[in-house]
Amino acid sequence: MPQYGIKENLEKVQNIINEECIKAGRNSTEVTLVAVSKTKPVEMLNEAYEYGCRDFGENKVQELLDKYEAMPKDIRWHMIGHLQRNKVKYIVDKVYMIHSVDSLRLAQEISKEAVKKSVTVNILIEVNVANEETKFGVKVEDTLELVREIAKLPNIFVKGLMTIAPYVDDGEKNRKIFNKLCKLAVDIRKENIDNICMDLLSMGMSGDYPVAVSEGATHVRVGTGIFGSR
Ligand SMILES: *Cc1c(COP(=O)(O)O)cnc(C)c1O
Repeated sequence: MPQYGIKENLEKVQNIINEECIKAGRNSTEVTLVAVSKTKPVEMLNEAYEYGCRDFGENKVQELLDKYEAMPKDIRWHMIGHLQRNKVKYIVDKVYMIHSVDSLRLAQEISKEAVKKSVTVNILIEVNVANEETKFGVKVEDTLELVREIAKLPNIFVKGLMTIAPYVDDGEKNRKIFNKLCKLAVDIRKENIDNICMDLLSMGMSGDYPVAVSEGATHVRVGTGIFGSR
């Protein structure tokens, strides 16, 4: 495989997103490309920033904080990794959205710290659609109940759902998983729960983001496809 630069990679990924949107009859402005920059140095993030990237995804609190300090302040930081409750306080006022909320206890902690800092935190509920034992995420059948409980908490705003699909050689193999997450969001939306919105779907990574876009993703999380292998 030829070695492209970050600029070429960003263009390529964005072009594929645009094509999938056209095929699906969607507007490409509905899809946000989150550049997953974990383990990559600030220089590489700055390069992506120069080419217009404003949404970055990190999976570790300390790394996110270091990069937050080092990078321009108009960046939207997405916390996409498993979050420990004792670290919530460091990021609630710095992240644009937390994609990985999968328990009431974590949501309560986010709410508590958000109240202290007088901010509102946007979150997504991480759903383990594939039912993989090794993965974090709430079970499909427990998601509605969790959303109902989180809806009662102050200063936390559920915007939608997130899932991490299995690693596959062919992204098509994950189509059912993405479709299932989308249907789950539709079902929860029908419940008309106060303070809940189900507009966002964070799904799709380097190996399967075109399929995720065709199934309704609003946020794709692409690392390797932009910055190269880790
Ligand atoms: C690392 C990571 C990604 C990006 O994975 P790539 O295969 O490199 O695109 C997306 N989502 C989450 C939650 C991750 O941890």
